[in-house]
Amino acid sequence: MKLDTSPIAAIATAPGRGGIGVVRASGKSLGALIDALFPGVKLAPRHATYISFKAANGDVIDQGLALHFKGPHSYTGEDVLELQGHGGPVVLQMLLARVLEAGSALGLRLAEPGEFTRRAFLNDKLDLAQAEAVADLIDASTEAAAKSASQSLSGVFSQVVHKLVDQTTNLRMLVEATLDFPEEEIDFLEKSNARGQLATIVDSLENVFRQAAQGALLREGLNVVLVGQPNVGKSSLLNALAGADVAIVTPIAGTTRDKVTETIQIEGIPLNIIDTAGIRTDEGIDVVERIGIERTWGEVGKADVILHLLDASRGPSAADEEIVAAFPEGVPVVRIWNKIDLSGHQPSIDVAQDAVHLYLSANAHLGIDLLRTELLRIAGWQQTGESLYLARERHLIALRAAREHLDMASQHAAQDDQSLDLFAEELRLAQEQLSSITGQFTPDDLLGVIFSRFCIGK
Ligand code: GDP
Ligand code: ZN
Repeated sequence: MKLDTSPIAAIATAPGRGGIGVVRASGKSLGALIDALFPGVKLAPRHATYISFKAANGDVIDQGLALHFKGPHSYTGEDVLELQGHGGPVVLQMLLARVLEAGSALGLRLAEPGEFTRRAFLNDKLDLAQAEAVADLIDASTEAAAKSASQSLSGVFSQVVHKLVDQTTNLRMLVEATLDFPEEEIDFLEKSNARGQLATIVDSLENVFRQAAQGALLREGLNVVLVGQPNVGKSSLLNALAGADVAIVTPIAGTTRDKVTETIQIEGIPLNIIDTAGIRTDEGIDVVERIGIERTWGEVGKADVILHLLDASRGPSAADEEIVAAFPEGVPVVRIWNKIDLSGHQPSIDVAQDAVHLYLSANAHLGIDLLRTELLRIAGWQQTGESLYLARERHLIALRAAREHLDMASQHAAQDDQSLDLFAEELRLAQEQLSSITGQFTPDDLLGVIFSRFCIGK
């Protein structure tokens, strides 16, 4: 796709009403636009000018601040004009329409989603990981997620990735230089301590991966699905975890017919807790309930963790065995024995052969903390105190692939099976994976996907 570099404009603030709202334009040169909007006025760069925003016929649309950032000293690296008016949807639309009209001779058009940030990336104002962090900061659902997005945005994550790329490149250069002198190949690995260097790179990569994986948890959270027979207390447990009455709790079996999702956070990790229709396997259920149960299994299929609830005062039944048999493989299950206030069990957790058993009472609020801790353990959350990078799945995949190539490299460097050209090739592949994180090696279509997920105006 040939990139369209014509000037763009959009409303940059969120839809709805607010104290102020911003219309932003970006382009190689916006001088003519500024002249058309504010005839005879010179906007000093980076100074706020209080001014009337006027329609072509001279009617005042709004009054506010005009800011002119001369490229390359701007967000996008191009000329940027920001008009800060009052934050009403209609007045902002009128202002945007006026800007587009005034810039029509310049080819000014409405920006596509993420196009401002994409230009910032193309003009080297941000690398790809930083650009992604812009969207992640805006979308952050917890304070911890916002903090690590802000870390990534400031470039800390990119720097450690760059360092890995540099180390890998240096080692590769060393090896490739030797390839030209076959007589030196024999003891090259010894002399240059190439294996030691590789081990150091692998070590740093592991560290980065750990911090990124923890950060990814903050971004993605976990899908936790509550399943069990009607009336075992699924909705009550959701409420106990969320601390509010979000799901309908009633003593009539089969009331939760559609799913209810509540996002809670434990130590900053977002947990999407999904309450499902109780599963009944007996005859005599109506169509609506049957659909609810089918949806339940749909949710179970997407779960990161399954909480299987049972009534501790009654014990398991044949239906529970059917439920357990239908769980997907590989998804952790916690068997929750609820209503211990009736059964007389103590709040406790018991790691048994078949599953983790947890005894609690949703209504009496006993053992809820045990469940929170268990959910953190399953999530793989480690409180390290080190800063985290709000990584995306894409970054983790690249880091993992880089790690595999480095492993292959060290096999090729092994004592009895030395193959320097394969060693160098694996280093090159590792480097390519790492570079894809910051966007040095990212295909256009992937860029398109990444930026199209932004909103218009960002
Ligand atoms: P669901 O159908 O699995 O969602 O079950 P609900 O959460 O709607 O609860 C069914 C009934 O069990 C309600 O009357 C709840 O008040 C009751 N219940 C839930 N948890 C407990 C508990 O820990 N102890 C006792 N005694 N009753 C509970
Ligand atoms: Zn329910």
